Amino acid sequence: MPDLDSLAREVSGGALGRLASGPAALDELPVQCRRLAPSGERVLLTDAAAKFAGGRALLDWVNDLVGDARRVTVAPTHAQVTLDEQTIEATLAEVGSPALIVSVGSGTITDLGKVLAARSGVPLVAVQTAASVNGFSDPLSVLVIGGAKRTKASSWPSALLIDERVIDEAPARLNRSGVGDAIAIWSAPADWYLACRLGLDGPFDDAVVRPVLDAVEHLADPDHDIARTALIDSLTLGGLVIGVADSTAPLSGSEHLVSHILDMAAMARGAEHDLHGAQVGVATVVCTALWEEVQQTCRIFDLPWSELRYPGDLERRVRHTWASIDRSGALGQECWTAVERKVVTWNATDRSGCDAARPDLVESLFGYVGDPTRSAATLRHWGAATRFSDLTPAVDRDDLSWTLLALPYMRDRLTLPDLLVMSGEWTPELIERTLQRAAAAGGGL
Ligand SMILES: [Zn+2]
Repeated sequence: MPDLDSLAREVSGGALGRLASGPAALDELPVQCRRLAPSGERVLLTDAAAKFAGGRALLDWVNDLVGDARRVTVAPTHAQVTLDEQTIEATLAEVGSPALIVSVGSGTITDLGKVLAARSGVPLVAVQTAASVNGFSDPLSVLVIGGAKRTKASSWPSALLIDERVIDEAPARLNRSGVGDAIAIWSAPADWYLACRLGLDGPFDDAVVRPVLDAVEHLADPDHDIARTALIDSLTLGGLVIGVADSTAPLSGSEHLVSHILDMAAMARGAEHDLHGAQVGVATVVCTALWEEVQQTCRIFDLPWSELRYPGDLERRVRHTWASIDRSGALGQECWTAVERKVVTWNATDRSGCDAARPDLVESLFGYVGDPTRSAATLRHWGAATRFSDLTPAVDRDDLSWTLLALPYMRDRLTLPDLLVMSGEWTPELIERTLQRAAAAGGGL
């Protein structure tokens, strides 16, 4: 287990000057505030959700540690805060130019704090209030641009404080969601490996994903202290890994695409969707089942990959997919622009060496594919949803099938379904068999 604090400084080039994670990390808040802004105005950035820790209101506690501070509470767009252009501009105006921003919140508030820090140059101390996603310890923020979720460069927090007393009192659904985001490590690296070896990303480096693979080993430990530390460490390492790779690809494969598409479909309908990690968790069970199903029943691993091509009607398929949730065609255009980049790169890449190397490549690939039964059992250990019908709101069979079929048609990242589109095997029948396999493992619909 690498030392998170020194790894954070190394990875961020010193920008993330202090990463404190442990039973009393919050006690460092006064020191970090003085280090980053010895004088001047301090702003506490938070949302309206009530937060408790150590037997009291967390914001009062933080306020005592920070001293005199102006509080900026970001209002929710629907049920929760959404990082669209309007919210960002309004918050930027309200925060102004203090000497220091202290964010107190989970993923969305921290992402917003990082955007404000990037835009205003004001240092940010992030007080992490839940182990809900891996996006705290990285220089990226997930924004909503033109109705689509996009990950954009923002800035590192100058200090990140992860206090176990605070995490333990976070709403259980937030920490359960973090478990779902953490187990993506059993699915995403296989997609990343595939994309790297086929020349669409890379180079692949096992050392990037290995620390996270090690950290999740204890995620379902019967001892809560061990399991909670595994959760915090795997998510924190996950953020740092994204920083090392300068890409979310090592930790974001098909299972993340599923979550992004569910979000986009819900936003297009003006409906709610469940938390990012909750969706990623149930999707990880299905995506690991997909690898198994494809290995056993599809031809893709036996075909000459050097000759594979995307189908001629790909653009029509992409636009048709998104037209069903956005008749204006804008989302179809946004997604086709992204998918077309992938096609151009695919067509321009020489893969003549791939065919001879394929048996080794496939064997290494499956070394990164997790067991769907273990994925479901780990979610269950934390009381997290294991099936799409357990999500809030529940995802039904039609919406799930549509979402899965849409996987290769959303962005420029190649994952297993792209190859299956090329081999003509990405069909409703394969989706159905995969869902049956996932159900037998304790997940699926
Ligand atoms: Zn994630």
